Amino acid sequence: MAKVAIIGGGWAGCGAAVAAAKMGVETVLLERIDHLLGAGYMAGHTAGNGKYTAMLEGIALGGGDLFEAEEKAVKFQPSGVPATENGFLCDVFRMERNVADLLERLGVEVILETRITDVSMRGERVTAVKTSRGEVVAADAFVDATGSAGPEGACVKYGYGCVMCLFKCPAYGGRVSITEKAGVQEGMARRKDGGHGAISNAVAFIRESVDAEFLKNYERKGCVLISAPPELGDPELFRKIRTQEFFDSADYNDSVVSVDIGVIKFMSRPWVNLPVLRRIEGFENAALFDPAAGGKGNAVRFLATAPWELTLQVQERPNLFCCGEKLGFVGTTDAAVTGLLAGHNAARAALGIPLLTMPRSTFIGEGLAWVQEQLRTEKGWYEKYSYLGTGGLGPHLKGLGLYTTDQAAAETRIAGAGLAGVLTGGV
Ligand SMILES: Cc1cc2nc3c(=O)[nH]c(=O)nc-3n(C[C@H](O)[C@H](O)[C@H](O)COP(=O)(O)OP(=O)(O)OC[C@H]3O[C@@H](n4cnc5c(N)ncnc54)[C@H](O)[C@@H]3O)c2cc1C
Repeated sequence: MAKVAIIGGGWAGCGAAVAAAKMGVETVLLERIDHLLGAGYMAGHTAGNGKYTAMLEGIALGGGDLFEAEEKAVKFQPSGVPATENGFLCDVFRMERNVADLLERLGVEVILETRITDVSMRGERVTAVKTSRGEVVAADAFVDATGSAGPEGACVKYGYGCVMCLFKCPAYGGRVSITEKAGVQEGMARRKDGGHGAISNAVAFIRESVDAEFLKNYERKGCVLISAPPELGDPELFRKIRTQEFFDSADYNDSVVSVDIGVIKFMSRPWVNLPVLRRIEGFENAALFDPAAGGKGNAVRFLATAPWELTLQVQERPNLFCCGEKLGFVGTTDAAVTGLLAGHNAARAALGIPLLTMPRSTFIGEGLAWVQEQLRTEKGWYEKYSYLGTGGLGPHLKGLGLYTTDQAAAETRIAGAGLAGVLTGGV
């Protein structure tokens, strides 16, 4: 039986596993830490703006059950988050369980607490990956869904030290890139402060540490704007180092945009001054959930973008595919849809059948092609791209008339490209 091995269990890796399993190949997902969803474990704001269109196309392609796992965890819809249309606020903990259940139903073998540290190659092809314990996992095709966060040394070099974030590098060992181990050089995003990578821009607090009366604001509407004294953080510095220019608006700079996603998350704040926060009504006892040292800094990401083809193959590695943050995209929906495509093509490669390229007549396909073009320019490395609209992708796709929130329109577009239900094995 043909076999696909996926390394990394974030949204991209989970999407890849769903798509590979639907193609009927043996599918194994290897994740370094003790649960799935990676960065997505703190990412409850989903499907906003163009991510909604990407999701609708993903459903029309046959990936609906992945988005259902997300929708079943919706707490608030619409999200009410400034500068976004559509979008949900989901309970991140329920979302992880829903995705794990889906993978189980599809027969994916999920192996947690397993860190890949090396690869075996024959010519340009990867033949196996090796775990830190010395086990060998052979397969016909591989997906590098290892993301772009950390490892610890990168957070020391390009950030503010290890801040004990959800990636748990000190306990499980940091990210190892499969692309790099396969001998392919990766690129690093640039920052406006002259540095490399980008600093994650959210801090989360234990829900119960917020005053019970204040929590009622979240129970009513999910998203709450809190008036923030300037000493809470340095908006000017945050503007230069964070992952998305999307947050450059008065709503995000003059106030804290906070959401209830099972934890209380402050968006667009790489860190907060905790003693200052505790002077704000409702947050007198605020306790950090992620990162544990979110009073000092945050995780560094976007130091590992693979060179990729529109089939999501890593360049010059015919049986290695990549997705999610590895492509230079940020966001859960972005990771999910690119994961679905990478997993689907990995299965096709394993089965020896022609690969799928999403046509530019689709929102997803045009987005991929345009971002790939941007990454050929020096300026392009200063942006992080999302179907949400960041990095200029939103205006570009809207300008072409590809943005839609109409499910029937998305279905018609995908059917017109001859791709209706293609992920479900209809090759
Ligand atoms: C704090 C925070 C809040 C966010 N909030 C939002 C939000 O509200 N909405 C939104 O859309 N986006 C949000 N994002 C961004 C979004 O979560 C990410 O862009 C997206 O989830 C990335 O998915 P990924 O699968 O590409 O990478 P990751 O989620 O980073 O997944 C990579 C996985 O690979 C594993 N891995 C790495 N190396 C190895 C190895 N060698 N062997 C085995 N496993 C390995 C890692 O442990 C990890 O689980 C947020 C990000 C952060 C950090």
